[in-house]
Amino acid sequence: MAFNKRVKIKNLLTEDFLNKEVSAMGWVRTKRSNKNVSFIALNDGSTIKNFQVVADPNQIDDEILKKCNTGACIKVRGKVVASQGAGQQAELLASGIEILGEADPEKYPLQPKKHSLEFLREIAHLRVRTNTFGAVFRVRHALAYAVHKYFNDKGFFYIHTPIITASDAEGAGETFKVTTFDLKNPPLDEKGNIDFKQDFFERETNLTVSGQLEGELAAMGLADIYTFGPTFRAENSNTTRHLAEFWMIEPEMAFYDAEDNQDLAEDFLKYVINYALENCMDDLEFLNKRAEDEESTKKADQRAEMGLLDRLKFVVDNKFERLSYTEAIDILRNSNPNKKKKFQYLIESWGADLQSEHERYLVEKHFKKPVILTDYPKEIKAFYMRQNDDGKTVAAMDILFPGIGEIVGGSQREERLDKLTQRMEEMDIPTEEMWWYLDTRKFGSTPHAGFGLGFERLVLFVTGMGNIRDVIAFPRTPGNAEF
Ligand code: ATP
Ligand code: MN
Repeated sequence: MAFNKRVKIKNLLTEDFLNKEVSAMGWVRTKRSNKNVSFIALNDGSTIKNFQVVADPNQIDDEILKKCNTGACIKVRGKVVASQGAGQQAELLASGIEILGEADPEKYPLQPKKHSLEFLREIAHLRVRTNTFGAVFRVRHALAYAVHKYFNDKGFFYIHTPIITASDAEGAGETFKVTTFDLKNPPLDEKGNIDFKQDFFERETNLTVSGQLEGELAAMGLADIYTFGPTFRAENSNTTRHLAEFWMIEPEMAFYDAEDNQDLAEDFLKYVINYALENCMDDLEFLNKRAEDEESTKKADQRAEMGLLDRLKFVVDNKFERLSYTEAIDILRNSNPNKKKKFQYLIESWGADLQSEHERYLVEKHFKKPVILTDYPKEIKAFYMRQNDDGKTVAAMDILFPGIGEIVGGSQREERLDKLTQRMEEMDIPTEEMWWYLDTRKFGSTPHAGFGLGFERLVLFVTGMGNIRDVIAFPRTPGNAEF
């Protein structure tokens, strides 16, 4: 006999099961009892809503009822009936309860009270059983699904790019090394350097920081592709927006120029956010309330101007502001925080790299909407970005979001072999090792473009959570690889 004949709570809450005998399984969130009856709030993860189980002590053994405490996992058989109480439409009149897994109330770390997000990070193996994290991970799933749906519907192909690579796409990225050497005793060459020729791959390898370069290769045959995979950066930045292991979505399109790229990125972001609005309203309403409660603990001048739901609708309904880096520098140079020396990094001249304080000023204070910044100085951008005719800038774009800062980084790629080689030499990127990349410019080259969206930054924006560690199930950050 199959064990799992349960009906998910999400479905029990529809009218389809009214007055039917069903079995439900889930975790007890709370139990209230009086002499005549016990009410158990059951959650099975299918929805943020709990299902109320009504247990009559004449029907259900006292020993069993005692074990139905917070955290325990139970199976309940019974009839779905219209609810008498306020707050729910239906409830389950238990005819039998089976304890699947007990939870000692003295020892179970998750209590019905409100725990801090910091504390919940320390029990990440259990936090998925809370309302907040249940909502976050359901929304995360919906966004991942929407990403695939968007690209599939547009005729893009999903490419799985390697996780172990010998190249460091950005040139300057901090990478995690991959080796099978005995770290205490690696083989050395004549000069006394570690001899990677004897390593597993017969060369130095690392975990990928981006799938873009391989994505470009694929786009030069399939035309429209995207990747959606894990990326690794050993940057020691302990911020609320950086993870050492995160997921990135990288579309790459042949026959696209910079403007086509911006149009696609804007349309894509609006689509996936709208998908969440259309499919996750229960969870988003809960997260909206959660964010509101959190905002109310902040000082008035630090509060966000819009609530979560309004912010999401606003982004979907309004055109992103597009401007060049040069225009942005003018705005920033003349801005109040710059004149009053409130920025930590003052903007003095053209060429300065933008810090997150500048990005957030543009988005949150000046334009009050998402911003696509284009045409950055070539010195602060990667070698593969297409050089503009002015000789100073490249066809880069960064998309900046309220509360997040950079959410997308992309560019039109340099498709001209001579310009690309020249730039690589200027930047000390070894052209011999990248022979395969340069081959695409030698044979059948074409204008093409793409971008990278940090998936967790998107989830952060859509869920209104404040820390990127709270939108991935088991975060990897400096000093933290538990679970
Ligand atoms: P930042 O300046 O915020 O560190 P970046 O310029 O290093 O970003 P890119 O190399 O352009 O970012 O990567 C593309 C996208 O990947 C970024 O726009 C961002 O959404 C995401 N991203 C980059 N680094 C991280 C990280 N450490 N953790 C999570 N997401 C990241
Ligand atoms: Mn970075």
